[in-house]
Amino acid sequence: MVRRVAVVGAGVSGLAATKCCLEEGLEPTCFERSEDIGGLWRYTEQVEEGRASIYRTVFTNSCKEMMCYPDFPFPDDHPNYMHHTRLQQYIHDYAQHFDLFRHIRFKTLVTKIRKHPDFCATGQWEVVMQRDGKEEATVFDAVMICSGHHVYPNLPLTHFPGIEKFKGCYFHSREYKEPEKFRGKKVLVVGLGNSGCDIAAELSTVAEQVYLSSRSGSWVMKRIWEHGYPWDMLLVTRFRTWLSSILPRALSDWLYVRSMNQVIKHENFGLMPVNRTSRKEPVINDDILSRITCGVVVIKPNVKEFRETSVLFEDGTVQDDVDAVVFATGYSYSYPFMEDESIIKCRNNEVTLYKGILPPQLEKQTMAVIGLVQSLGAIIPTVDLQCRWAIKVFQGLCTLPPVSKMVEDIDEKMGRKLQWYGTSTTLQTDYITYMDELASAIGAKPNVLKLLVTDPRLALEVFFGPCSPYQFRLTGPGQWSGARRAILTQWDRMLR
Ligand code: FAD
Repeated sequence: MVRRVAVVGAGVSGLAATKCCLEEGLEPTCFERSEDIGGLWRYTEQVEEGRASIYRTVFTNSCKEMMCYPDFPFPDDHPNYMHHTRLQQYIHDYAQHFDLFRHIRFKTLVTKIRKHPDFCATGQWEVVMQRDGKEEATVFDAVMICSGHHVYPNLPLTHFPGIEKFKGCYFHSREYKEPEKFRGKKVLVVGLGNSGCDIAAELSTVAEQVYLSSRSGSWVMKRIWEHGYPWDMLLVTRFRTWLSSILPRALSDWLYVRSMNQVIKHENFGLMPVNRTSRKEPVINDDILSRITCGVVVIKPNVKEFRETSVLFEDGTVQDDVDAVVFATGYSYSYPFMEDESIIKCRNNEVTLYKGILPPQLEKQTMAVIGLVQSLGAIIPTVDLQCRWAIKVFQGLCTLPPVSKMVEDIDEKMGRKLQWYGTSTTLQTDYITYMDELASAIGAKPNVLKLLVTDPRLALEVFFGPCSPYQFRLTGPGQWSGARRAILTQWDRMLR
């Protein structure tokens, strides 16, 4: 019987885990190394060890109707996309509303998680934590790891010959906070992801010149899409997912490329992805295109070599007098507190988790990794559903296939990722397909056909409208009585 659950981290994932445990009558204890909740969204002027770090001007890329906890909509007067301070306030309101603070132990670092000696019989874990320099170990029936994956920089300096000769400064985007100290400088940003684009666009307001280097291009979208509506409310729909599942791949690829090129022709901006049909997560940025048009950001290909004060690119061009380089080259995931990290990262350091959550080879299924997926959908509703699914597994109420079948499922999904995203190791997954898979397993997937008979207005909004978080709390365990109303009023709140 699982009763006591350790939750590592009090970011949006850890709060979802704590709340979902309480909902199911379990006893969660959430350990947070810092002094407050919010994780990545808790902005600090200084980078803190072991915690994600964001820059001063981060705004959300997911709109409020698509990124809320499914039973806690944002207040009406919140803007659709918000500054990190507003999201942090919402996260606080959520924790207060569901009375989560009393289950969180702040300034407590989890240093070790290991199987209890009789794990094979009990599935219990020994969790070692440190507070005020003192170490303490406690036994838990289950563990939910919610420590985030934007903490450990991926800084592949060996891929950049000559960097040791470069006389300017260089650093990972994790260290970037604000642009002022680059006033009048020439700065190279490496990496055309969300952080790279945000930082390049912001630097270009003060720097003499910004160069943005990309190895393989990216689709770039604005937050507002057709007729000025939030992109995710228009694009993340069941109808579109269904369409792409029934269309021949060639036609679906053609429609995808066409819609991505609808607002801007990427070729003209030097942004065209090398693999055009890959469903790699697009960059969401409202400013970068105009900064390129104004010439303050110049798109460059991959760096071939760094020299003392200049940079040679793969197209043979050289940029002289570069003062600083920002490597926006993403993150690697790491679980330093796991005594045996191969439980999460087996096979060549790849993450091989069943449903992106469970290490399949454990003798007892009492460990869940929450938030280690990426999709076109927002993280908050994703982790809410992951937690609900994992808890049902802990309770033995959601039966799992044998280990061999789980491993087969992981391999099959890796194969599909190779087709859709061009790499099998990505954390990316198709949002609605993934959410429906988890929801079906716990009886929380909305039945559109049944709704068509019982509640046609709701059915149409569920199928053709945005696949908003509330859909996953319409029925089944964790059902929220306000879900129907929230779905039918989502466009009104967006307009407000
Ligand atoms: P985190 O927020 O990283 O929280 C992990 C927590 O665990 C931290 O508080 C940390 O202190 C704690 N912790 C870690 N290790 C330990 C330990 N050993 N002991 C105790 N505590 C520990 N997603 C969206 O859906 N929409 C967006 O618009 C969006 N924008 C983003 C913008 C940026 C710049 C970045 C980098 C990411 C963005 N994301 C966005 C994704 C983002 O990862 C998620 O929104 C979310 O913050 C992840 O939450 P988390 O709780 O899983 O991890």
